[in-house]
Amino acid sequence: MRILVIEDEQKVASFIQRGLEEEQYVVDVAHDGAEGLALARENPYDAIVLDVMLPGKNGFDVLSELRAHGNQTPVIILTARGSTEDRVRGLDLGADDYLPKPFHFEELSARLRSILRRSSSQKSSRIAVGDLVLDTAARRVWRGDKEIELTAKEYALLEYLMRNQHRYLNRTMILQHVWKDPHSPISNIIEVYIMRLRSKIEYDGKRFIHNVRGLGYRIKEPNGDA
Ligand code: CA
Repeated sequence: MRILVIEDEQKVASFIQRGLEEEQYVVDVAHDGAEGLALARENPYDAIVLDVMLPGKNGFDVLSELRAHGNQTPVIILTARGSTEDRVRGLDLGADDYLPKPFHFEELSARLRSILRRSSSQKSSRIAVGDLVLDTAARRVWRGDKEIELTAKEYALLEYLMRNQHRYLNRTMILQHVWKDPHSPISNIIEVYIMRLRSKIEYDGKRFIHNVRGLGYRIKEPNGDA
């Protein structure tokens, strides 16, 4: 889970960041509205914690621009205590929840979990590439009716490929994402895992995983030829 925190007060921002990182979220912090908006457009966050009082572009501007561009990432706004007007305005602009300042970290964390639950139940947990189907909630994989048993790492690699089926993933991206370390001690670890995945998925000779020198790996629907 990756969270963007847009908050100009250094102290509050690092307090939120530390707390969320302790709960195993990946956290990015922006200290003004423009920077926050740019990050939110570039990266697929699971949620955004957005302060209203920001220099330059305030939280309302950021929120309305995001929604105007079709970005539906769940947003919690941080408002001044007692400001009913701010809360109403935020909710009207498409915020998912609000939290009056000052707040206890536990409350932010609970509200975050709640909006993340809501948004994940709205999203389908299934990703398909041809007849290859992966359920991210159940962490199970099928080809047609046949379930495919994968180890945790094989699953993580396949999920990463399937979530990014529109693009090639290079070595560094895969190591970073699946092994959390761009410098694996085993130089051919990706090749080994790709080979294992292929033997499990491409058992009938249909080609799903492609490798282009200089670009990396990509998963695609087989186009009929074995
Ligand atoms: Ca502020």
